[in-house]
Amino acid sequence: MFPTHQDFIPRSTTILSVYPIRKTATMRHIGQTTYTMPPADKGLIRVAQPDWACKVFDFQKNLPPLVETPCNNGDGYSLLCIYDTFQSVTDPSTERPEDKPMMVEFVRQDLLRQWVSQSFGSNLGASGPGIIAIAGTTPTEEELARARAMQHEFFTALVMSARDLYTTGHAKEINNRHRMAGEYLGIQGEAWMQSIKPKTLKTCGSCGADIDHIAITCNSCSANLVKFYQEMIPYGITPESRGDHFVADILKRYAAANSVNTTVAPPAPEPPKSIKPPITGIAPPPKPEAVGARP
Ligand SMILES: [Zn+2]
Repeated sequence: MFPTHQDFIPRSTTILSVYPIRKTATMRHIGQTTYTMPPADKGLIRVAQPDWACKVFDFQKNLPPLVETPCNNGDGYSLLCIYDTFQSVTDPSTERPEDKPMMVEFVRQDLLRQWVSQSFGSNLGASGPGIIAIAGTTPTEEELARARAMQHEFFTALVMSARDLYTTGHAKEINNRHRMAGEYLGIQGEAWMQSIKPKTLKTCGSCGADIDHIAITCNSCSANLVKFYQEMIPYGITPESRGDHFVADILKRYAAANSVNTTVAPPAPEPPKSIKPPITGIAPPPKPEAVGARP
């Protein structure tokens, strides 16, 4: 239930974000409020309002919670408007919750502490996600540059940390935030970045390299795995035993196709150049009518 403060004209201020990930914080303001900073999109200017603002204050009854405006690629950012509000606190004498006025400066301080200072390790210094308080309702060039510089420093620190984890054998500790930072900085082709699109890998039966689970040719040793397993099956080395279910399936289909064809022609000596779907629905060759049979 919202308190009614008809004559209350709140002051407002704005927080700027160039951080590509949504940030939220829930506080006991007007009952309970979740403040949401939309993710910064490179090609959109997003302006968000706390959900309660529209309901409580007469002066902005029809304020939409989020407005998106396209802009030049690279110029995008997000803004969250915040207001003087009321915080629900328990009165120690009556032990009942009471709504106490809360100045917007404290709301801002709380949000920045949660989104920038507290959420990241102290080893990353003063840098953090590009989220800052701004003076007006739209950011100046200087404010945008400051937020981007701060974030650039933060992302650079994350990338250096990821490279360090990778080279010291702690690649498992590299997470999507590290990869997001690398992607944002335009880093490509570094091994620690590669699991950004998680691939299912298999082991090459010939050389043992980790390769894509649907590879037929190993990009490490150039072995044709279909041919490799065809030659190795007589020695008990099967794609199944090596966990290569993709090639196992191909060989099964190949064998099925050939078993149909053997009644017509001998099997092809070489594996197929391209993988064809299994031949199904082929009727067996018609039984020859007995020549000269009597009716
Ligand atoms: Zn190989």
